[in-house]
Amino acid sequence: MNLTSPSEIKKIMESNNLRFNKGFGQNFLINDSVVERIADECAPGTDFGILEIGPGIGTLTKALCERFPKVVSVEIDRGLIPVLEQTVGDNDNLTVINEDILKLPLKQTVSEYFKDMPVCVCANLPYYITTPIIMALLESGVSFSMITVMIQKEVADRLASPPGSAGYGSITASVNRRGEVIKRFNVPAGCFMPAPKVDSTVISIIPHSIPAYSVKDENMLTKVINSAFAQRRKTLANSMASFFPEIDKSEIEELIVSAGFDKNIRGEKLGVKDFALLSDLLTERKAAQS
Ligand code: SAM
Repeated sequence: MNLTSPSEIKKIMESNNLRFNKGFGQNFLINDSVVERIADECAPGTDFGILEIGPGIGTLTKALCERFPKVVSVEIDRGLIPVLEQTVGDNDNLTVINEDILKLPLKQTVSEYFKDMPVCVCANLPYYITTPIIMALLESGVSFSMITVMIQKEVADRLASPPGSAGYGSITASVNRRGEVIKRFNVPAGCFMPAPKVDSTVISIIPHSIPAYSVKDENMLTKVINSAFAQRRKTLANSMASFFPEIDKSEIEELIVSAGFDKNIRGEKLGVKDFALLSDLLTERKAAQS
């Protein structure tokens, strides 16, 4: 069965009474060399377990099963489960789980299926939930060796943008604190069926074993980062003031100055280390007041 052949895909979908589900971001790969390259580059060696998100009709799954000792594929669409049984069900090293990846207890699932094996993530991600999935993986408490995902090119560009550049935003800061982002290669829209309106990029994230710049309160750091990018045209102090209404703006400005920055600085100029510093100053202030 040639799973990258458009006519074959059409036949598989029709014979199972399925339509491409836009709501689930179903754009299936129809380019062999892209499939092979993702599977080749998704782990630093062959002795890895692979967690795949969204196997679809099993195109990438098949390439992964040919290379790795254990593959666990999580697919939300119940209608695709019998299809996967037909296309890749004869691989003894494959387990398919019918679940929403965002609802799956990741730590428990990984230790149940992979035991002590080092694990990498590999996926052609649905565009509509790229960021929540990446953050869920990075915050799961699982020590993934590498996370290789195909995402919208524009999001990949944002993730790889340095502080101060136009693409730099809260997601850049949050992801970069948790891991190193490596751009692999671009994939044009024509490599998918149906073709999406945007191009894609394959990236790998090498998670840090501990997040860069530890902070006293993770929630505070998230709030500081979100506040800094909420209103890009405003100064950091103004932007933060609307997120922290309990603190006078003048006090926020003092805090920014005591962290070593100009009181009129904009949030996008700050790196993760700077946000961590501001976050701890705010946490200390909160503790002193309670
Ligand atoms: N891997 C296949 C390929 O490359 O041809 C399909 C990729 S398609 C872009 C995304 C897949 O993710 C679809 O099969 C979709 O049903 C599945 N999906 C969407 N949301 C999901 C979620 N929350 N959890 C698990 N799978 C999901």
